[in-house]
Amino acid sequence: MRFLSTRGQTPALGFSDAVATGLAPDGGLFLPETLPDFSRDLPRFEKLGYAELCFEFLRVFATDIPVETMRGLVNASYTRFEDSAIAPLRPLAKNLYVLELFHGPTLAFKDFALQLLGNLYAHQCKVRKETINVLGATSGDTGAAAIHGLIGKPGTAIFILYPDGRVSPLQERQMTCTGAGNVFALAVDGTFDDAQNALKEIFGEQDFRTRHRLSAVNSINLARVLAQCVYYLYAWLKLPASERGNVEFVVPTGNFGNVLAGWMLQKMGVPIRGFRVATNQNDILHRLFTTGEYRVGAVQPSLAPSMDIQVASNFERFIWFAVGRDPGKVREVMQTFKTTGRYDFANFNRDTFTASRCTDAEIPGIMARVHREHGYIVDPHTACGFKELSPDRVSVVLATASPAKFPDTIRAAIGREPTHPSLEALKTCPVVKHRLPADAASIRAFIELHAVAR
Ligand SMILES: *Cc1c(COP(=O)(O)O)cnc(C)c1O
Repeated sequence: MRFLSTRGQTPALGFSDAVATGLAPDGGLFLPETLPDFSRDLPRFEKLGYAELCFEFLRVFATDIPVETMRGLVNASYTRFEDSAIAPLRPLAKNLYVLELFHGPTLAFKDFALQLLGNLYAHQCKVRKETINVLGATSGDTGAAAIHGLIGKPGTAIFILYPDGRVSPLQERQMTCTGAGNVFALAVDGTFDDAQNALKEIFGEQDFRTRHRLSAVNSINLARVLAQCVYYLYAWLKLPASERGNVEFVVPTGNFGNVLAGWMLQKMGVPIRGFRVATNQNDILHRLFTTGEYRVGAVQPSLAPSMDIQVASNFERFIWFAVGRDPGKVREVMQTFKTTGRYDFANFNRDTFTASRCTDAEIPGIMARVHREHGYIVDPHTACGFKELSPDRVSVVLATASPAKFPDTIRAAIGREPTHPSLEALKTCPVVKHRLPADAASIRAFIELHAVAR
């Protein structure tokens, strides 16, 4: 299968190249040339465990990787999850389920994609007899998940920039207590945006970039979106047959990455009723799906920090479908958005989407209510999903992080603190971080010293 850029000015690539490239050179994002139709495979899929299902799904896309190799890569990607179901679907009440996506090594849903991406990178290094230096900036969860996807992988090194003092202590420990020689957590003196800007500058230096075979780890990678389709499929197959056609997945979202994956799966012949786009007080997507206007605002820090995003980078993939797969039109929309900060989608079809918005003032109350009504503890991101549920649909709320990652917010809401053995163990591990000024030159010098050589 081949993959096209949403902006239409990059030649189509195979799966491995599209994954290695990340952002297309024309600024667009990669999508499958045609979407497969899985409707006739669904009965056969019912009996499969998570890793097998993931393999059966991904092999249709990754046609340039030998089948048995792909099976091995996928199996290896789901061995470090602590629940045997990988993504357990828990019934809470009539017509209400939680899909727990936090049983991976960093206790947030990003492990589903980044464990796989780590193995795909390592595989490429092996077959191409190359080495790779992975670089990313994070405000918390992505960096930790990316690091844990690449820990100890031969031929790779990973450099993650994060704003010093502005990620949670547990998130910092997940990045800095790995003990791995190929992991470099760079605590930058500045904000997340400063780190992000330094990173952009480094990627803009073509010579440095090619000399060190730099690759970006960020939320727009094709492999991330495809890996995330699988848990929607898995959950759909676990529902009673009578409920499947009426299911609405409720997705706490920031970058639109997670919702997009579910929506693409629906377009691949899985009869899902719809999606609820659940935002925190950074509500660009809520405004879009209620008014049609896509307009950037200023980011307000919230209790659900991994959703503190105002420009939903994966949204461009949705636009490509919404404008009839016309790359010229996508370029026009993105250009208008870039120059004016807004775009009006007067008449796109919003049937499948509902939206909700949850402010910080509401999050603790929702956590307390879910705990009281269902005896279940949700983290502040997942809490946004419980803001309001459609009464006539079967809701499956995606639980994106373990409550144990946010002990202070949980204590304030329900009066006790959830714990998790892996986080307890982290509290006594030595922290290894490298403090650096937030400028490209210092970061480049650090990479120059520590990059894995060819
Ligand atoms: C990253 C993240 C989100 C948002 O995911 P998107 O792909 O940006 O929609 C939600 N919750 C948690 C816990 C996250 O780490």
